[in-house]
Order: sequence, then structure tokens, then C-alpha cells
Amino acid sequence: MAVKISHLGYKRLSRVIFEWQAADRASLLALFMVIEISTHWLWCLMVWCFRDALDDYVNIPLLYPLWLGVTVMGLFFWWLTGYLSRTRDNCKDLSKWQIMLIVPYTLYIAVVVVMIGYSSLFAGVSLVGGAMLGMVLIKRRYAWRVFLLQVLLILLAIVAPYFGIDLPNLRQLTVIYPILDSPSYLTYNEVMAVENMVAAAIFKNTALGWDSVSALQQSSTLFWRSTHVYLALPKAVFIVYMFRTLLLILDDSKSEILLHANQDELTKLKNRRYGLTQMQQALMTVDEDQDFSVILLDLDWFKEVNDNYGHDIGDQVLFEVAQTLLQSLTEEAIVSRYGGEEFLIVLPDTAHKEAMAIAETLRDNISSHVVQTCNKPSFQVTASLGLYTFSAAERDRIKQEFAEATTQVTPQNRHTVPLFRLRSTKTVQATEAQLLPDRVCQCLINLADEALYVAKARNRNQVVSANELIDVQAMTRPSYQV
Ligand code: GH3
Ligand code: MG
Ligand code: MG
Repeated sequence: MAVKISHLGYKRLSRVIFEWQAADRASLLALFMVIEISTHWLWCLMVWCFRDALDDYVNIPLLYPLWLGVTVMGLFFWWLTGYLSRTRDNCKDLSKWQIMLIVPYTLYIAVVVVMIGYSSLFAGVSLVGGAMLGMVLIKRRYAWRVFLLQVLLILLAIVAPYFGIDLPNLRQLTVIYPILDSPSYLTYNEVMAVENMVAAAIFKNTALGWDSVSALQQSSTLFWRSTHVYLALPKAVFIVYMFRTLLLILDDSKSEILLHANQDELTKLKNRRYGLTQMQQALMTVDEDQDFSVILLDLDWFKEVNDNYGHDIGDQVLFEVAQTLLQSLTEEAIVSRYGGEEFLIVLPDTAHKEAMAIAETLRDNISSHVVQTCNKPSFQVTASLGLYTFSAAERDRIKQEFAEATTQVTPQNRHTVPLFRLRSTKTVQATEAQLLPDRVCQCLINLADEALYVAKARNRNQVVSANELIDVQAMTRPSYQV
């Protein structure tokens, strides 16, 4: 596909940069060049139209070879836009044509810069902008080399007059003439004024008059400055546009990468890692008086769903259950896919009673959801849920006990307090490291998991609270002493 001007929209350009092949990107660069050279061509046309008025300070005879050169280059690059797209299957050929694209362009720009003024705005924008566009659209090492070539050419143009080489310049040749005997310094503008005055005298063959010289100087300055701006501006706009587009593309790809890194592909829920990170953040930001509830949900007999209906239908069930969860919960809830058919639901600022009601609603909504299939009878699935509420009081107790333990340090109890205790055989001790949010979160999930285990044992399709299990064991629960 040959690159066209209509491809310059942000959406299309993003495809050019990331998805199009190298040949098409080079073709786009050629298109940029055609657009730029067209503005040069129009400038030549304008000078030619006003040649009688401009011939005081524009070397009109030099305009014709320049105009011819601009036309030839414009046609060459126009032809290249189409040709480059056709070289996409031939890498070697493409490299050759990338060089054929940027070397003539660099030489062309060097000539224009010399003719127009190498200390102009146009020269600066061309030098920097060409390299930047090149680096985005063709092989970077080629763009880098031609950038150095252009720097070299500009330096040569600067020193050439010192070696007696007169370079062609569209600005009329002017002579600095020492009009004053005094050795005082002249400012740049004064030098320009003197130059123009002398030039006017030479070319116009008129007597030196400050008014006419000053008028000539003003119109000459206006003309050349607007020429520099006119030639520099389109390129500057392209560069800014390109970099804005690049930044937008970078933003897009960053959010896409983040999405893929954090999202579970199948259910579109948060994945386990991101769910845990969000849980830790929620735990760290929960207010001192707020309870914090965690639910672990596991689908019942899910292996049978796969065995009876196939893996695809199993996937469909997982997706639909995920949707049911999202629809049943508020935005504050953190829902993630914890494992195969296990989901972790974190309810910040939710007390135990409220969390139990929410868990019951989830269980009910899942069991009443009918899974439709194409060629098999529709069916329903159930889920078991384990819940643990980490109450504000419990957090406060742990903090206090930990603070007390750290004041009574002995080699045996060093910074250690029992953090959670559920199964009588297993008491989780809180050392400094275990009080870190990730460890606490894992403890909370383990407690919810133990309740889930009990729910499975009690014939599934129900909610079991780890807090209630702890209360049942409370009689045998040792006091939290260190
Ligand atoms: P229980 O009620 O005790 O939880 O029984 P179960 O069959 O649900 O539990 P089990 O752990 O034996 O089986 C879980 C099944 O989930 C096994 C696995 O093939 C299936 N599974 C895990 N991930 C996916 C998945 O992404 N897609 C599908 N279709 N199945 C999955
Ligand atoms: Mg299961
Ligand atoms: Mg499971």
C-alpha cells in the first residue's frame, strides 16, 4: 500500500509506526519530504512572480537552477513514496532505497540551507527535525549518519569563504564598506544597514541616501526573515505533530501493557498478582476504625463441568461467574481471579455481618445464574465461599501486643506475637517481617481458605465464616501472651 496524505491521522499514523512494515515507514518519510519540498517549490514560484520587486535583494538568475533542482527532487521523492512501498519483500533493496532517500535529501537540504542562509531558523529546524523524523521512520543508524553528514556540510559552508570558495547565495551579494574612520564597534544591525546601504548604492547605482538604504534594509530583512519562518514552520509543525503522536502511542501502549500485566485474560478480572497488590494497598489505607473483609470463592464440582460440557464451556462459565461477581458487587470491592476456578474478593471497610450478607448474595446469584450452551442443555453451577473479617479491634489488639512484645525482648520472644490462630495446631506468629502488608494479606487469605475448606466439607454451596470458626474454638484459644 502506497502511503498517502490521508494516512497522517493519529490512529493511522500509529499503525504506520508500529504495525506497518519498514518499507511503508520509509515511504511515509518520503511523503513528508514531498510535502516539505512542495512548500519550497511554492516559495520559488512566489519569488518568480514578484521577481521585479525582489531583485534588489534576491539573486533572481540563481532562482532558476534552484527551482529546477526543487522540481526534480520533488518528483524523485514523489516517485519514491510509491516505489518504497513495493520494496517491502526485499530487505536488501529496501536498505539501498532508504539510503537513496535520505542522502539526496540531506544534500538537497544542505544546498537550500547554503542558498537561503545557514544561520537561519530554517537551517536549525532542518538539521534537528530531519534527523528526528528519520530516526522514527527509517533505520536509526542511517538517520544518525546523515545527521552527521549535514552537520559537516553546514560547517564546510561556514568555512568555505575563508578558503576563497564562493558558495551560491540567493541573498544578493553585499559588501561591507568601512564608512567611518573611527575604530568604534558596530552592532550586527548596523553592519547590516551598512551592507545594505552599500549594496543599494552599487546595484541601484544611486547616490547614498539613508532613507532609501533604510527602507531597502527593512524590506530585505522582512523578506528574508519571513522566508526563513515560512520554510521552517511546516517542518517544525510536522516534528511537533510526530512527537505528539509518538507520545500518544507510548501512552496507549503503556496502558495496554499495564492492562495485560494486571488483567486475567479469560475472565477480564484483575489477575492474582494485581488483586494481591490492590488488597495490600487497601489494607494499608484502611482507616483505624474500619473492618476489612476477605472472601475466597471456589466453584463446586468444576472439574465435572469441564468433563461433561468441555473445556470451552468451562471457560464460558468462568467468564459468566466473573461477570456475576462484578454485577453483584460495588466498585469498592476488589475482585480478582485467584486461581483456576477460585476468586478472591476483598471488601475494604466492610464489617463482618455486612460481608456475610454480601457473600450470601454472591452465592445466591451464582447458583441462580443459568449457563446457556449451544448444543447441550443449559445448567447451573454453585460456589463455596470462605470469609474472614479482619476487624479494626483485631488490628488494634495485634498492634498493642506487638508493641508490648517489642518492649520485653528476650531471645525467645524477640518481636513475636501470635497474629492469627485458627487450627489449634497452627498459630501464626507475627514477627516484624510478618506484619508487613503482604504477609498479613496472605494470613487473611489463609484464614478465608480454611473457612472455604470447611464449606466444601459441609457439602458445598454455602458461606462459612472463619471468624465464627475462631469463636467456636475460643474456649480452647490460648491468651495472646508472649
Ligand atoms: P471442588 O468442589 O472440590 O472445588 O471440586 P472441583 O472439581 O471444582 O475442584 P478441582 O480442584 O478438582 O477442579 C478444578 C478444575 O478447574 C480443574 C481444572 O481443570 C479446572 N480449571 C482450572 N482452570 C481452568 C480454566 O481456566 N478453564 C477451565 N475450563 N477449567 C479450568
Ligand atoms: Mg472447585
Ligand atoms: Mg479450586
